[in-house]
Amino acid sequence: MQKIAILYDASQAVLSTFDLDEVLQQILRIARDYFHLQNVAILMLDKEMQDLHVRSQIGWDDGNDEVRLPVGTGLTGAAAKQKRPIYAPDVSQDSRYVTSTKTTRSELAVPLMVRDEVVGVLDCQSENLDHFDKETIDLLTLFSTQASMALQNARLYSLERRRASQLEAINTIAQQMTAVLGLKELLSKVCLLIQEAFHVSHVSVLLKEEEELVLRAHHGTFTARYPEGGRLPAGGLFGQAVATGKTLIENIVSQDPDHIVLYPETQARMCIPLVSFGQTLGVLALDSAKAGAFHASDTQSLESVADICATAIQNAHYVERVKQLAYIDGLTGIFNRRFFEMRIAEEIERARRFGSGMAVIMVDIDQFKRLNDEFGHLLGDEVLRQVSSLFHQQLRKFDVVCRYGGEEFAILLSQTNPQHALAVAEKLRRLVETWQFPGVPRPVTISAGVATYPDHGSTRDELVKASDAGLYAAKQAGRNRVFLAPDPQRSTAQGAGK
Ligand code: GH3
Ligand code: MG
Ligand code: MG
Repeated sequence: MQKIAILYDASQAVLSTFDLDEVLQQILRIARDYFHLQNVAILMLDKEMQDLHVRSQIGWDDGNDEVRLPVGTGLTGAAAKQKRPIYAPDVSQDSRYVTSTKTTRSELAVPLMVRDEVVGVLDCQSENLDHFDKETIDLLTLFSTQASMALQNARLYSLERRRASQLEAINTIAQQMTAVLGLKELLSKVCLLIQEAFHVSHVSVLLKEEEELVLRAHHGTFTARYPEGGRLPAGGLFGQAVATGKTLIENIVSQDPDHIVLYPETQARMCIPLVSFGQTLGVLALDSAKAGAFHASDTQSLESVADICATAIQNAHYVERVKQLAYIDGLTGIFNRRFFEMRIAEEIERARRFGSGMAVIMVDIDQFKRLNDEFGHLLGDEVLRQVSSLFHQQLRKFDVVCRYGGEEFAILLSQTNPQHALAVAEKLRRLVETWQFPGVPRPVTISAGVATYPDHGSTRDELVKASDAGLYAAKQAGRNRVFLAPDPQRSTAQGAGK
């Protein structure tokens, strides 16, 4: 009679709700009350990690619920491994016993089985020596099948919900990709969507550049060790995923001697390669603060997301490349006049806003027509390339060098004053004059005109005109010279250099 009552109560509990924690608590309360137990717990098996962790408990000491027991360790671990109830009538005499609560004298661990598979363990502890007789053990074994069912139901249910939300995420991501976005914006959005849909701590996109990986975007709760744009070695799980083109999971990163710390909080990592038309562009990395967080069952959904991302990244690359080409001079590889026109307006606006100065240097190669005539057009082209490269190397990263046309160059210097701009132009003049151009047995020289904001003008046209006037004055004065634009008040150019 008692037996039927217990089983009936347990089955009612299982059917009462889909909330796993609620079901498990009810089951544990029934076990405790009917069998007069002090501590009862349900441990769940993590299949990937092959360990047990407490999912629900009554009466355990605080802190014990954090414990993870490898399958095979302790009485519960033994029950999971041997797939049969394990009983220690006197725990102090059983070498398998792992201390949990000090007052425990006897313990029974019953595996929770679904078909032939262990899904967890029901752990029953008593303050009495040899508390469980054979009949009680049989009854608890029978009773435990209800707990197994509850676990299985809840798993299936949450799996369904998970699948549904993942499908929705894939849909949303796919829709976002078709919108026209810049690459950076797009990747940030992807990270955010994946983090929300897959409930992970942090999501990153690392793209391959030469032999390294560059952190292009990330989103989540972790502390980034690299800034966006930061370069990482293509090693660890990242490198393996890129090299093999396969999705890889590392559920305990501390066990990997090659682990690359991107976020110090990471305990588990999953890497999905980003592959478009057979080319691996990088990896999508999911990081979790929980060891064992990743399941192979999520692979398929995430690979679908990664495929969409890879195509979008490839498209964005093309768009960026086309945009770039429109602003690049084909012969020299530096920016063209169109780019100059766009940037000078931006630089003037910035100088105005921050009250800083900026400068335009117009440079023209001297007697270039003669050089062409003497040494041929092809060598002339080579000189243009080399002069471009010399300028490019000499200037700061944020200065802009453009081929303005023919053998003329326009340079934009931000945050500068007339003296500094003149000094820069003079440095370039001297460099070219002393440079040995292969195939040209005599010096090549340049002339330059310098105009600064706000001294010589406050619009693009005024500044270009002023620097041109400086250049004209330099040519007039005999070439191989640098001239500051005429003072608008006095309208005479001032020379520098030779
Ligand atoms: P100046 O000192 O007064 O500047 O004399 P210059 O000969 O340099 O000036 P001019 O404007 O008379 O001639 C410019 C020459 O630059 C004419 C043209 O053939 C040459 N040129 C323009 N673009 C290119 C190019 O892309 N490649 C080559 N090789 N030559 C070019
Ligand atoms: Mg010239
Ligand atoms: Mg010219």
